[in-house]
Amino acid sequence: SYDDDKSDDECAFVRALRMSGGDGANSYSANSLLQRRVLSMAKPVLVKNTEDMMMNLDFPSYIKVAELGCSSGQNSFVAISEIINTINVLCQQLNQNPPEIDCCLNDLPENDFNTTFKFVPFFNKELMITNKSSCFVYGAPGSFYSRLFSRNSLHFVHSCYALHFLSKVPEKHGNDKGSVYITSSSPQSTYKAYLNQFQKDFTMFLRLRSEEIVSNGRMVLTLIGRNTLDSDPLYRDCCHFWTLLSKSLRDLVFEGHVSESKLDEFNMPFYDPNEQELEEVIRNEGSFEINDLEKHVFDLGLSNNNNEEDDYEAGYNEANCIRAVTEPMLVAHFGEDIVDVLFDRYAHHVAKHASCRNKTSVTLVVSLAKK
Ligand code: SAH
Repeated sequence: SYDDDKSDDECAFVRALRMSGGDGANSYSANSLLQRRVLSMAKPVLVKNTEDMMMNLDFPSYIKVAELGCSSGQNSFVAISEIINTINVLCQQLNQNPPEIDCCLNDLPENDFNTTFKFVPFFNKELMITNKSSCFVYGAPGSFYSRLFSRNSLHFVHSCYALHFLSKVPEKHGNDKGSVYITSSSPQSTYKAYLNQFQKDFTMFLRLRSEEIVSNGRMVLTLIGRNTLDSDPLYRDCCHFWTLLSKSLRDLVFEGHVSESKLDEFNMPFYDPNEQELEEVIRNEGSFEINDLEKHVFDLGLSNNNNEEDDYEAGYNEANCIRAVTEPMLVAHFGEDIVDVLFDRYAHHVAKHASCRNKTSVTLVVSLAKK
């Protein structure tokens, strides 16, 4: 486990990390279209690796799949459906008996699994209609920075937009006040601290999964990363989602809703590695071979508008998306009273930045084979 360099109290909001539950207007379930588009970008890699896994393992009669950081709602099933379809189509083409499949859905224990589990009957009905197959669904609550499955039991692991979340906020140095994440004005030591925490966490993740995944098993991981075009590791776009969240919180400080020190205590347990940083951790850890490493655009999907009205709507869409991802943590630290006002400001800032693009962020897709 980790050395605790911050008091528990100081980072209590990290323990509140989860997406907004239920299926109401502000829920993750109702505000995660972006993530669904991301899943479709990774589809070719997912299909190819599923096929390779089946061939390399010589069509086992039983397959165990894990979805890590599944969150709540229908997104939990998008990749899993793809994996099961691919397996069944391949078995038909090559005249093999289809395997029985176990699907384990993982997220942190506070995740709203109930909203996900309610979709299981629909999911299995779909599977039955599309390829006369089914699977057994299980919940696996816990942190993916700890052991979740028994030794040598997993054949395929998928995770989308979860591994950019760290196990904790790194100890920060210097005076990057008024900001929830690394900014262009942060000292180098802040970058080093975040990078170091990412290296620790991701190394731990790979080591634990290497114990759980069978030899020649596969893993497809998609996460938010950082473009290498900017050699300055501190550079973040003026319209980066955390830059805009910091701006919105500073508005609230200015208006007297939030104290300056309260804002300074709040930092995102998040890191967006570039390709080199990601590759280096995988190589140093050593249990996995890299098959593919792709870089896709990051786009909250809301740019390219032609008029101010659209900008305004785009602002609200992005605000709702970021709200669904951050609300439980924000409420744990600032209380619930500020949230409506905060995301009103956030939407406003997005609209003002409608003509620029977040060029800092990219979507990284990496596929790995257990050696
Ligand atoms: N895969 C989904 C959800 C992405 S949101 C989709 O593509 O739509 C990221 C999810 O990762 C959240 O539900 C969050 O609770 C989960 N998560 C973050 N850190 C985690 C950890 N250490 N262990 C397990 N899940 C984690």
